[in-house]
Amino acid sequence: MNKNSDNGERINLLGMTRQHLESFFVGINEKPFRAKQIMQWIHHRGITDFNEMSDMSLKLRKTLSQIAEIRLPMMVDERKSADGTRKWLIETSDGGVVESVLIPSGNRATLCVSSQVGCSLDCSFCSTGKQGFQTDLSSAEIVGQLWLANKSFDVFQSGKGRMVTNVVLMGMGEPLLNFDNVVSAMNLMMDDLGYGISKRRVTLSTAGVVPQLDRLSRESDVSLAISLHAPNDHLRSQLVPINRKYPIAELLSSARRYLSSLNDINRRVTIEYILIAGVNDQLEHAIELSKLLKSFPCKINLIPFNPFPGSIYSRPSKRAISRFWKTLVDAGLIVTIRATRGDDIDAACGQLVGRVIDRTQRSTRYDKTNINPVNLRNPL
Ligand code: SAH
Repeated sequence: MNKNSDNGERINLLGMTRQHLESFFVGINEKPFRAKQIMQWIHHRGITDFNEMSDMSLKLRKTLSQIAEIRLPMMVDERKSADGTRKWLIETSDGGVVESVLIPSGNRATLCVSSQVGCSLDCSFCSTGKQGFQTDLSSAEIVGQLWLANKSFDVFQSGKGRMVTNVVLMGMGEPLLNFDNVVSAMNLMMDDLGYGISKRRVTLSTAGVVPQLDRLSRESDVSLAISLHAPNDHLRSQLVPINRKYPIAELLSSARRYLSSLNDINRRVTIEYILIAGVNDQLEHAIELSKLLKSFPCKINLIPFNPFPGSIYSRPSKRAISRFWKTLVDAGLIVTIRATRGDDIDAACGQLVGRVIDRTQRSTRYDKTNINPVNLRNPL
């Protein structure tokens, strides 16, 4: 279920899809086209106060203020990297903190969005997994990350249109384990009345929850990334424990089914492969990987491991990375190496930990780090 009314009182309209909003308005004896109007106010113009919605009658505005609200998650910190990357710490309704990261590159700007506070999958190389799972984000908290990024760049005010060109669900959490809220949020991101981002530019990344991936093929057509990280089950089960339940062959068959549901021969799955020194970066791994993926419609994204405090792994040398890359390229595969961005602000892949904050300690922690909490709940 969507946690749209997660404060238990007024219903939060922020994360509701066009369809949900239409039923909401019909439910209060209004015409379905009100959904269109309100979406434009929220997602195109960044307005969260019903009183400013001038194409609605005073009576309707009053009713809405009584029964509904447009409630953003709270942005508690913003950091800017020397390379243009920005990271936001976002507090959820139950006090957990997640991170979202914006990575500008040429004329693109990719927002890396979180879907859960913490994560239950416990992959051995991932700092988010080390904190365990706390809670699912509501669809409002997921799409709210995009709203806040736009707000931070003044996109609403300047009327400059869309700033975020791509969204990747590669922040904290396993998106397929928060299925309904993630699908609603992605639908809003792709809706022209929402953020109008094309389905090719919204990418869901999963460690491989096979039954949910099969469900996704029936309910969505976003782009898919698979966190593979190893060429065989023995190694993958050590790095990505969910592999013990859904081994590589099952995962790749499910990914194939997903691709064929898209009915577009030009679309490919992105295979993410972290390179960890001495663990999965050897020549034999590259050869095994190229055999595994030889006839799989994919592009491979190599991600040099990003270290975090307490991690037992390290990043391979540049030489080892390019040797691995070349072996795959020579085998005819499409391979890119992910540039590390924002590591001076701990915003690189796998460095997103957020924080599970004890409310009594919160002010102390922010005082210490000299951060002023900014309340964007009612920012306008
Ligand atoms: N649970 C999803 C999405 C979150 S992780 C998934 O597993 O795909 C997003 C990407 O960051 C994944 O490919 C993940 O394996 C990678 N990642 C996690 N920790 C990392 C680290 N320390 N260094 C580099 N990449 C990491």
